[in-house]
Amino acid sequence: MIDVLVIGGGPAGMIAALRAADLGATTALVTRDGFGGMAANDGPVPVRTLAHAARLIRDARQLGQYGILVGEPSLDYQRLLARVNEVVSDVRAHSTFREHIDSLGVAVNENAGSARFLDPHTVETESGLRLQADKIIICTGGVGRQLSVPGAQFTATHSEAWGLTSIPPSMIVIGGGATGAQVASIFNAFGSQIEFFHAGPRILPTEDEDVSAAVAAAFRDSGIVVRENFGIIESFDQTATGVRMSFSRFGRRDSVEASLVVTAIGWVANTSGLDLSIAGIETDHRGFIRVDEFLRTSAPHIFAAGDITGRLMLVPQAIQDGFVAGTNAVRGATMKLPEHVAPIGSFTDPEYAQVGLTEAKAREARDAVTARVDFDSTTRTIIDGRTSGFCKLIVDRQTREILGCHVVGERAIEITQVAAVVIAAGMRVDELAHLPLSFPTYAGALGRVAASITRKLNLNVDWQANQVEDLWQYRSRSWPSGKR
Ligand SMILES: Cc1cc2nc3c(=O)[nH]c(=O)nc-3n(C[C@H](O)[C@H](O)[C@H](O)COP(=O)(O)OP(=O)(O)OC[C@H]3O[C@@H](n4cnc5c(N)ncnc54)[C@H](O)[C@@H]3O)c2cc1C
Repeated sequence: MIDVLVIGGGPAGMIAALRAADLGATTALVTRDGFGGMAANDGPVPVRTLAHAARLIRDARQLGQYGILVGEPSLDYQRLLARVNEVVSDVRAHSTFREHIDSLGVAVNENAGSARFLDPHTVETESGLRLQADKIIICTGGVGRQLSVPGAQFTATHSEAWGLTSIPPSMIVIGGGATGAQVASIFNAFGSQIEFFHAGPRILPTEDEDVSAAVAAAFRDSGIVVRENFGIIESFDQTATGVRMSFSRFGRRDSVEASLVVTAIGWVANTSGLDLSIAGIETDHRGFIRVDEFLRTSAPHIFAAGDITGRLMLVPQAIQDGFVAGTNAVRGATMKLPEHVAPIGSFTDPEYAQVGLTEAKAREARDAVTARVDFDSTTRTIIDGRTSGFCKLIVDRQTREILGCHVVGERAIEITQVAAVVIAAGMRVDELAHLPLSFPTYAGALGRVAASITRKLNLNVDWQANQVEDLWQYRSRSWPSGKR
């Protein structure tokens, strides 16, 4: 029997195995597919590469504005897919994880097929491999939720985009969360006619309401048909040129047709076939593996990490989970999951990102004050011709603590990283307003909005570095409130 067995070779599994072996445990990792999991093969890396191509098309269209004369860009999708594969293998080749894991003597079993429990300490894979371990860490990630309506088999997921040989002339994207928004935005840039359907009242429902509204408006401006509150899907049928979706709203029936229908309606735990009950592992009401603060499951010798636990389903959190689970599997339940600020963003056009609380959440518990700097009033965005978007800050009126930051527009995700550092460091809004951030930069918007809030709060601040831009450019505008 080995000390630790890790199931799943994504970010959570890689780090869990690495940590356990680093602490001296004899460790094995078994994974259904290739090493790297979704992050490397089907998630952020390929999607970000496609998003970069979409961005290049947009940038190419801007060249004329700067006196650079080239023709209208056109896309060779086959070449782009070749580039995606090149990037995926390049990222893998440059990753030191595999080398590190091998150097620690972890037995890595790739492409072993799905694993399942035979008893609480024994796991068998489809390839016939049988492994026994004292401690087990489950890191099998998540999968896209499937629709269960007639004809659902005629729909595709984002993963099928890699298999396309050409860009579909038209596409219906169902599900207004982060994945759906990325698919809609990227294929819109590639020339598909996109209809973007969301059952709830606003797309990006976990974002601040201003963000949802701004992204929906920008999508509409770029030609995407955004249909929020569209009703209930009844069925899909194959047609001569694609797929028809029939739906109804308050009893009124309607239908739309497109070459391809892509669903992105949520992420569920990838537990099917694991036979969790044999090992005594419980799941929560959503089907994710229930864990405590040490990432222990209901079977005390079995841990779970990453998307399979259903919290923030992102790479940094999967990595953090893997470290905690690997530590606790070897040392016993000694390390709790840390409470960290977690910036989140999406590579749509326009980009959007957040850290901390939304305005609605902040107002539920705190006396919050907000301010917003629009990108049509910041120097760098004007220089770059990227003037749509905003940076919004939410602050506690009494303590001046920064509660949340929400950005839409160029480099939104990078700006939010700065905000995350500021929040993690416990900087107050007036301290941020004093910081002489470089000029002219995108991050400078954060300083501007902080300066704006300090004025709203009537703070007795003599000099704010970030008011410089306001003073230079917008002398004629009246101050929002407070002192000059
Ligand atoms: C389209 C898309 C875009 C994304 N973009 C971002 C982004 O920009 N930034 C970000 O941080 N995150 C992003 N994510 C999320 C990110 O990919 C996941 O949070 C992360 O990969 C989770 O890591 P994990 O190790 O928990 O699971 P995974 O990466 O899913 O790895 C699970 C592993 O388990 C293996 N496995 C599954 N079942 C079994 C079984 N029964 N037996 C053996 N092995 C099994 C799989 O083969 C896989 O190797 C994106 C996801 C998607 C779908």
